[in-house]
Amino acid sequence: MVEVPLKLQWHFFFRNEVLRIKQGNFGTNAHVKVLVVDDMLLHLQTIKLYLELAGYQVICASNTNDAWRLVMEECPDLVILDVIIPGGNGLELMAKIKQQFPNIGVIIMTAYGNEDVAASAIKLGALDYLPKPVRYNTLANLVSRALTKQRQLSEQAAHVSTLKHAYEELQVSADSILGCLSAAVVAVDKNLNINICNRWAKEFFLNADIDVIGCNFYQAFPCFRQLGLLKYTLENNRRVRNYEAEVDTVKGIKILNINTDLIYDHRGQQLGAVAVINDVTELKQKEHLLQEKEKLAIVGQMAACMAHEIKNPLTAIKGFVQILASKALDDSAANYISIINSEIERMSEVIRDFLSLAKPQPPQFVEADINLLIQEMVLIFQSQALMKNINVAIDLAENVPPVAIDIGKFKQVLLNLTQNALEAMDKNGTITIATYFLSDQREIRLDVKDTGCGIPPEKIKDLGMPFVTTKSNGTGLGLCITFSIIEQHRGRVVVQSEVGKGTTFSVYLPIKDGQYE
Ligand code: ADP
Ligand code: MG
Repeated sequence: MVEVPLKLQWHFFFRNEVLRIKQGNFGTNAHVKVLVVDDMLLHLQTIKLYLELAGYQVICASNTNDAWRLVMEECPDLVILDVIIPGGNGLELMAKIKQQFPNIGVIIMTAYGNEDVAASAIKLGALDYLPKPVRYNTLANLVSRALTKQRQLSEQAAHVSTLKHAYEELQVSADSILGCLSAAVVAVDKNLNINICNRWAKEFFLNADIDVIGCNFYQAFPCFRQLGLLKYTLENNRRVRNYEAEVDTVKGIKILNINTDLIYDHRGQQLGAVAVINDVTELKQKEHLLQEKEKLAIVGQMAACMAHEIKNPLTAIKGFVQILASKALDDSAANYISIINSEIERMSEVIRDFLSLAKPQPPQFVEADINLLIQEMVLIFQSQALMKNINVAIDLAENVPPVAIDIGKFKQVLLNLTQNALEAMDKNGTITIATYFLSDQREIRLDVKDTGCGIPPEKIKDLGMPFVTTKSNGTGLGLCITFSIIEQHRGRVVVQSEVGKGTTFSVYLPIKDGQYE
């Protein structure tokens, strides 16, 4: 048998290998770039040849500097790296590549029997290891496997990054939703350490914008310690619904409505509890006011019935007193009769005023000249003013247009305001009655101004409340009637006053065409 020379054997083997590899892979790997780093040139060339035959683009380096330059310039998909290379350690270079280019896969070449190095290379992030001497015919498979693994890792990393991004976005929108809520939201874990605390909770219960995440709930919010609702919820596995309590907050004592609930994860494991706290102070105050108003309305109705019942016997008494007065009586009896008469008069007045408030008649609007009305009314109370040496001045704007008013009710307004002005002055004052046409606002203004005692600022808000009077013989109903009449006219009253100097009541009436039809 003829011995085939070694060179020829090598040639045949190589040709068969080339054919085998070519059949499988050529063309599909053309876009994949592999960097091979080894200082043994022949070895390097052989790996290059095998991989090129498998269709890969192959670049080579024989030291760490060249290798790193090629990594940066060529950005290969895979690096096959010898552990011992001139200029440094292969594992160190791999760490550097992994850190800066996590998508580049690395296969480490180690000398046969050096499994420890191989194991630590895998630990440090190598996709696989290639024992030396290299079995070249397995190289293409190894590279293909490594590339698949790297692709999977890159895809996983991309998924993780997408999830992370989505989670961050969710966190941001959850935070901004929590921030927008007009309720305080605080969530705690099972040990009562705070996980979530929204802006409202901080503004309402903390003095400064401090970070309380991770802090114990009752240490961060001592005002809730006594209520202990979150603790109760966690210890008893029971939520709390609409618990109302007065709590000393940064903004003062507030009435709070508190709800708590348990929080679970998607597997149904209990994570902690959450408290949602609403400030219901204003709501409660309004409810209270409404209740008071309802009570007052009932009392008012009863009082109106009583007033009506008193009115009839009072008329009879008044009649008989008048008969008695016409009889010849001695002086003292006549005096008593006159006192009885004036007291009956006062009682009738109170009842009349009260009934006009409790059962107001609907206004009958007619177009009227306000200036003319004022001039008529001045004649009525001027004599009273003269007796107190009070001067009455009238300052009427000429261009005041006619307004739709209920004449009887409007006269009552004028009388009430001028009467109060007269009563506010002892002697030697001036009452000024003025009108203005506010053409821009489509309003007219009527001022009743006095130089009397004035009203303290804190009392101004009480003006118009029934039975509020500072006079020994006052009813405290005049302004109440006045304000309700002006309201019926869809107007408004503005009061300006200075104690010791005087007061001005300004009545504004609208003059919109057809407003009262
Ligand atoms: P009354 O005149 O019966 O007291 P009113 O409702 O007319 O009832 O007035 C209520 C209270 O408002 C008065 O008692 C007085 O204290 C105050 N007041 C009203 N008008 C004036 C004014 N022009 N100057 C000072 N105080 C006034
Ligand atoms: Mg009065």
